[in-house]
Amino acid sequence: MLEEAIRAHPRTYAGNRYVYPVLSRRARGISVGVNLNPDKVCNFECVYCQVDRHSEPEVRTVHLDRVEEELSAVLEEIRSGLLFERRPFAGVPEPLRRLNDIAFSGDGEPTAASEFPTAVRRVVGVKEALGLRGVKVLVLTNGSTLDRPAVREALALLDGHEGEVWAKLDAGTEAHYREISRSRIPFGKILENLCLGARERPLVIQSCFFRWKGEAPPASERAAYVERLKEILETGGRLRLIQVYTLARPPAEQEAQPLLTEELEAIAAVMRPLGVPVKVFGGTERACP
Ligand code: SF4
Repeated sequence: MLEEAIRAHPRTYAGNRYVYPVLSRRARGISVGVNLNPDKVCNFECVYCQVDRHSEPEVRTVHLDRVEEELSAVLEEIRSGLLFERRPFAGVPEPLRRLNDIAFSGDGEPTAASEFPTAVRRVVGVKEALGLRGVKVLVLTNGSTLDRPAVREALALLDGHEGEVWAKLDAGTEAHYREISRSRIPFGKILENLCLGARERPLVIQSCFFRWKGEAPPASERAAYVERLKEILETGGRLRLIQVYTLARPPAEQEAQPLLTEELEAIAAVMRPLGVPVKVFGGTERACP
């Protein structure tokens, strides 16, 4: 049952449209996801994305009153213990029956949703009303909108409410970025945004490494990736942590396959001289998406 709770990543829970709890082994607690992209639209098209874009979305619009209601209800279920009477959470051991974070993470890029700034204010309001000090608010982003004034304002608000920005960086070169992220947004733009975001607050960098078309990332790509991290640091950016992980669930493209933990460790070793903490995860419970 515990494995079921960890593996289960439905974007729906108990009839909810937007808010879904997941058990995070990494966080050793419950992470409550807020999905602002039920339409499954994303400005990236990562080869390893786990969102099923072959089926039609059941919901296409975001109703913030409903988001707030669902969030309050799930948080209350965690507080009261009701969540742990339901599948797949019934087998969660006592030490993991704790709320760790609320995470903007769903079926697309959360910060690109027009509702994002207001949703942040609503989530902060719920968190304050329930007195949830110590509960982080995570924003999982591909970095594409970190220069937008409304997004910057929303993230600044979160800075005062235990916010953390977890930003994706999966490549070191434009060519590799184009091949695996398949976005029309230039790589240079993403890097500029990461530099900007990291100057405004320490970022957590999330990097997914995997075997692509039978090949692990070559040494040249790994070296270029480290150079990009150096550029963020050299332009005044701060990095809280680098998370190195691989695929945990079926990807969009079958030619994307997970790396072994020792391969991830070898990649992490190239980063450690940067002086930023690096953590390796064999899979991920809470990555983008
Ligand atoms: S992994 Fe994240 S950024 Fe990439 S396509 Fe999926 S939702 Fe978008």
